[in-house]
Amino acid sequence: MKRILFLDRDGTILKETDDELVDHLSKFEFMPGVITNLSRVVRDFDFELVMITNQDGLGTPVFPEEKFWPLHNLMLSVLAGEGITFSDIQIDRTYPQDLALTRKPGTALLHKYLGDGYNLKESYVIGDRLSDVQLAENLGTKSILISEKKNSPATFTVSSWAEIYSILARS
Ligand SMILES: [Mg+2]
Repeated sequence: MKRILFLDRDGTILKETDDELVDHLSKFEFMPGVITNLSRVVRDFDFELVMITNQDGLGTPVFPEEKFWPLHNLMLSVLAGEGITFSDIQIDRTYPQDLALTRKPGTALLHKYLGDGYNLKESYVIGDRLSDVQLAENLGTKSILISEKKNSPATFTVSSWAEIYSILARS
């Protein structure tokens, strides 16, 4: 059965920004080590990659589509050049106060993975927020939290992408 890495975007693949919007090239930066280590993961292990990201207000005046897609697509093309491709990318556009089931830790955008055919117990959510850890709990996967805090509820807490590779190598 297929194993999946559910990957958060901002704070996990791209650096988080002060206003939580990657809407200008000056705010576009990869997390250290993500390209090297994710390409090693893809080369060495058999995981399907699924991106699950909240982009608050995407498509509204606070975050117009034309400020999002060029940088999102630039990220995808840089990753694809290193062999890193996603089988699925799910974007929730709501705000926390909307309490939407599509928003992490809700699983409504990921229902297709809850049926047979996927080994969720040996799959992972990788992210930088507690909502990513809670998503893992709701999906029945393990979690890897990128955080400097030591006492986190995640299955694994790491401070680098090299550590993420090591965890996946042992799994
Ligand atoms: Mg994040």
